[in-house]
Amino acid sequence: MFYQGSPLSVPSTRSAEFTQISDRIVEVLRRRVGKDERAAKPHDWYTAAVYTLRDAVIDRWMDSTRRTYETKGKRVYYLSLEFLIGRLLRDALSNMGMTRAMEQALADHGFDLATLEELEPDAALGNGGLGRLAACFMESLASLDIPAYGYGIRYVNGMFRQRIDDGWQVELPETWLAHGNPWEFERRESAYRIGFGGDIVMQGDRAQWNPGEQVEAVAVDTPVVGWRGKRVNTLRLWTANAIDPIKLDAFNAGDHFAALEDDLRASSLVRVLYPADSSPAGQELRLRQEYFFTSASIQDILRRHVQFHDDVRTLPDQAAIQLNDTHPAVAVAELMRLLTDVHGLDFDEAWDVTRRTIAYTNHTLLPEALESWPLPLFERLLPRHMQIIYAINSRVLREAGKAGMDGAAIAAISLIDEGGERRVRMANLAFAGAHSVNGVAALHTDLMKSTVFADLHKLYPTRINNKTNGVTPRRWLQQCNPGLTAILKDAIGDTFLGDAAELSALNALAGDAALGERVAEVKRANKVALAAHLKDLTGIRLDPDALFDVQVKRIHEYKRQLLNLIETVALYDQIRSHPERNWVPRVKIFGGKAASSYHNAKLIIKLAGDIARRINSDPSVGGLLKVVFVPNYNVSLAERIIPAADLSEQISTAGMEASGTGNMKFALNGALTIGTLDGANIEIKDRVGDDNIVIFGLTAEEVAEQRANGYNPRAVIEGSRELQQAVSAIASGVFSPDDPHRYAGLMGGLYDHDWFMVAADFDSYHAAQREVDRRWQDQPGWRTSAIRNIANVGWFSSDRTIGEYAREIWGVLK
Ligand SMILES: *Cc1c(COP(=O)(O)O)cnc(C)c1O
Repeated sequence: MFYQGSPLSVPSTRSAEFTQISDRIVEVLRRRVGKDERAAKPHDWYTAAVYTLRDAVIDRWMDSTRRTYETKGKRVYYLSLEFLIGRLLRDALSNMGMTRAMEQALADHGFDLATLEELEPDAALGNGGLGRLAACFMESLASLDIPAYGYGIRYVNGMFRQRIDDGWQVELPETWLAHGNPWEFERRESAYRIGFGGDIVMQGDRAQWNPGEQVEAVAVDTPVVGWRGKRVNTLRLWTANAIDPIKLDAFNAGDHFAALEDDLRASSLVRVLYPADSSPAGQELRLRQEYFFTSASIQDILRRHVQFHDDVRTLPDQAAIQLNDTHPAVAVAELMRLLTDVHGLDFDEAWDVTRRTIAYTNHTLLPEALESWPLPLFERLLPRHMQIIYAINSRVLREAGKAGMDGAAIAAISLIDEGGERRVRMANLAFAGAHSVNGVAALHTDLMKSTVFADLHKLYPTRINNKTNGVTPRRWLQQCNPGLTAILKDAIGDTFLGDAAELSALNALAGDAALGERVAEVKRANKVALAAHLKDLTGIRLDPDALFDVQVKRIHEYKRQLLNLIETVALYDQIRSHPERNWVPRVKIFGGKAASSYHNAKLIIKLAGDIARRINSDPSVGGLLKVVFVPNYNVSLAERIIPAADLSEQISTAGMEASGTGNMKFALNGALTIGTLDGANIEIKDRVGDDNIVIFGLTAEEVAEQRANGYNPRAVIEGSRELQQAVSAIASGVFSPDDPHRYAGLMGGLYDHDWFMVAADFDSYHAAQREVDRRWQDQPGWRTSAIRNIANVGWFSSDRTIGEYAREIWGVLK
């Protein structure tokens, strides 16, 4: 048996388990890594440690699979173009209860587990929140003992690595697979052909699609370990091979490139993740990627079902397919195609099976992020799917007609956008083909009903439901913040790790000064550690006694890093004008990637750097204010930054952030939130209470109202002295003397349209920041608020979220 529970609860005595692991590592190092102990380098020991752990994981993995077969359990299939996993070693060790034993075993050979962990590259197969949600869900599915597969793409390069050159973002390929990946298993027996293009011939009343080109999808599996090793599920990522990797005749004739063309075309499919999470990539390659992984996954699901249950008509009893946003929405047409063309069901029967199997999660209402494809492109690449979509559409429109809907409603419901260039609407396809359509926070779900899906909601009024997002407390509390975890265990026991709702026991201790001090000590230690790391990364020295004020997330205008930066400039101005006041020392930490084609987002990164340089080198602020932009924000950085944050910036324009999950991670680690009434912030406020969060700004309703009634940002800016001074300082080049007009356009945009209501919310935000200062000056009060946050956000565990999906959508839990 291995140790159960976290390393912190295990006495530090050496044990038989440790000796066994210590011997195993040496054995593995020799036999599988091919190195002698004396010659082995740190990365060899890292690999040996993973293989040793993996052996233990594999036993549970096979056991889990066998259990599902024996009980004929219904499986959940989570289809996602993104899985933002981060590192796996610490997660798997901890969930297997092996952390302490591994630590001791490595120490025995003169290695430090924490140092070796740093050698593991982040699996960055996602952009941000949506991909990280998929990763948290995989962990919770295993922890709740639900049989599940995650399906996605094994990107060779994934999300780009961000370098900051002279303040500008530069995108570099992430080479996470360069030294192999000890976690994965290629499954050559699970390979499928994926077609594109070609034509359709009718055989009787059955259509047969003859694709013009094909690639082979091959499964690569990674085990996902649940809490306490209860279950190990599979993350199945698809890689692409050419059917005919080399045309020898062409090669021998000297045309080497043409000979390898198919191979190149196949590998380009799985090369990179589109680095845009909320703008349509628009490229054919993106549509090819979506169909590639969706088709492979649906073929795999049907193959497994038929193998064990024979009849495709019982699919909904054995399989629940969840679409993470519209990227896999073509699943609706693909499942219909396979059920009708291959398995011979008639259209009605296939439609019934499809809709009872598929469910869809919507992640955004931003119009530019609602996927649609030009009809000619879709038809050329997927001609058979286009026919099926027309057939589905005529059925849906018939139902709308029967329900007495008018022309405008019918046009809004249609799967084809007929306005201007005809396009296929993926959200409408997903909505029509699913029995459940969920939003990811209460406000977002309400807005789905009243805005983008208003007409579809009228036609199918029971389909939309809410599943507020969550995060796994194992990664986002226990593993990233072992110091805090130890204190919480002392205070309330360790059941909160398996059931985060148990954190509420802390409420009884919220005013306990001794606990407050211990929590503050851990926070300070985390800040010292982060400061040291940021000193290495950026050269900037930070005072761990200052308030660490953090905004880390994708850079996007709706997330309003600009509001924070302008407020930083206003604060800087005030500190210089009134140095005698009792200012709270602050460190402003920013981090995040901008989509490579998103000009303003990249300019905002540059602005953060320009503001940082000026403020950090100004002796007149006397160290009261420091600004730092952390390059290459990713999961591993988040795990360092979040436990060290005092203040969590969640300041999106109300109505635009579907949920947010960063907000949950910060609160769970005892940061107070400054935020708008947007996404899950609202539900966080309801749980932690008004005294333990700082809310400001327009509500979603007020934003809509102002936009409708002719919002005049120029008047607002001219009416606010602080705002006007800050905006004109930035616009006139105070922070960019090398290029004084650099921000003239960005600031001009605020005067002219300010779609994201930065000006409208500025005064309220500025006042809220001074409220934060006041609360900080009462340290005992701040500590109580921090504990109240930890105590009351257990509900935002992804275990709770997955429990709701399981019971209310998938029908897999009682
Ligand atoms: C949680 C997380 C996100 C999502 O953050 P939001 O603030 O909700 O946008 C993005 N990136 C990483 C690396 C994360 O861990």
